[in-house]
Amino acid sequence: MSGVSRTATGMPARELAFRKGDMVTIIEAVEGKGWYRARHNETGQEGLLAASALRERGAIRVDPKLSLMPWFHGKISGVEAVQELQPPEDGMFLVRESVRHPGDYVLCVSFGKEVIHYRVVHEENTLSIDSQQYFSNLIDMIEVRPPSPDSELCRGMAPLVAPANLPLCPAGWLLNLQHLTLGDRIGQGEFGDVLQGEYMGQKVAVKNVKCDVTAQAFLAETAAMTKVRHKNLVCLLGVILHNGLYIVMEFMSKGNLVNFLRTRGRALVPTQQLLLFALDVAQGMDYLESKKLVHRDLAARNILISEENVAKVSDFGLARVNPKGADATLLPVKWTAPEALKHNKFSSKSDVWSYGILLWEAFSFGRAPYPKLSLKEVTELLEQGYRMDPPEGCPPTVYALMRSCWELEPGKRPSFKKLTEKLQKELKHLRDV
Ligand code: ADP
Ligand code: MG
Repeated sequence: MSGVSRTATGMPARELAFRKGDMVTIIEAVEGKGWYRARHNETGQEGLLAASALRERGAIRVDPKLSLMPWFHGKISGVEAVQELQPPEDGMFLVRESVRHPGDYVLCVSFGKEVIHYRVVHEENTLSIDSQQYFSNLIDMIEVRPPSPDSELCRGMAPLVAPANLPLCPAGWLLNLQHLTLGDRIGQGEFGDVLQGEYMGQKVAVKNVKCDVTAQAFLAETAAMTKVRHKNLVCLLGVILHNGLYIVMEFMSKGNLVNFLRTRGRALVPTQQLLLFALDVAQGMDYLESKKLVHRDLAARNILISEENVAKVSDFGLARVNPKGADATLLPVKWTAPEALKHNKFSSKSDVWSYGILLWEAFSFGRAPYPKLSLKEVTELLEQGYRMDPPEGCPPTVYALMRSCWELEPGKRPSFKKLTEKLQKELKHLRDV
């Protein structure tokens, strides 16, 4: 085959001159198999290249971790990128692969209601934005130098709008593995082990998600999780891409509510403490409800207790990631509202149903709900109007709350706000007598 061919425009094209190790960008495939029109990344010359002469840039092009990065949006156009970055928030960014120049990456940063597109420069197996600092891959580039005003990243360039005060960058929750020390295993979750650890002097709990699919789904949800902050929600500190995924959370030294109550029992935990836990959970859930987030797996096992005896809701970000959601046979039947079980209708009101079960668990000091009943029996009995009896020693007012949570019609169940108010009243009453 000769070195001359024709391009789509009919112009004759020459074979591209290159040396081993040079970087080129594929523009298009030409005239059947085996040949590509390509541009030399250094000289800028365009020409033809035999496919056999090409090898994909390992570290850059086929980094499997890249697809795990929430800021990496794959091959989308500039217009689509702008849409993704709506509503505009200064400092919000994403990285996309160029549609017109496959293999080239573009960093898109939202600033002053505009989106600035920075072309990522390839040079000898390294990447750069400003041709001053070079990184071996995109992940390092974004993690080491997240787009911010004081980083070199945005400075050396001539952006459309001067990036003066880019605040908060969403990459902030990508933590550095070097600052993390791992300790003992403190629990076993559905998605992997939970370890105790320390991150920059702070005690943390680290959940290790080894399954890539789950990790990816989790990361997609993390954007929402980083936006929720409440004293009664277990705080997500960040994630690390290592060994699958590390999810770093605040450390809750007294473990989950079920174990807390089972190991201490009636003798050590007064009713007032139970009411305080119940109130904590209701407040955390009220906040989630206000953010239009549905938990789907509210249960005493997912309530964690801090050193100061504050109860916090955990696993709220995993709700939609949870494979249980997709597979009805894996739902936590004894905690799930009838309309959610039957028609997949999850809502804050179905969370309220679960909250009623949680109250029952708390006031029975960690017993499993519907003791002695099979899942099938529970479903059938509930339909016939059966409800659990009050746990031994449970105040009638608290039992009345449970029953209101178990109204068949979701609309008749109280809101978490209402539950909060009732519990506050109950606590006041207890203090007054
Ligand atoms: P999963 O929901 O995947 O089953 P969990 O998040 O419930 O896993 O974690 C399993 C166990 O690990 C919990 O029951 C608890 O004992 C422990 N654990 C989880 N997160 C923390 C944390 N932030 N602090 C202390 N212990 C934790
Ligand atoms: Mg859990």
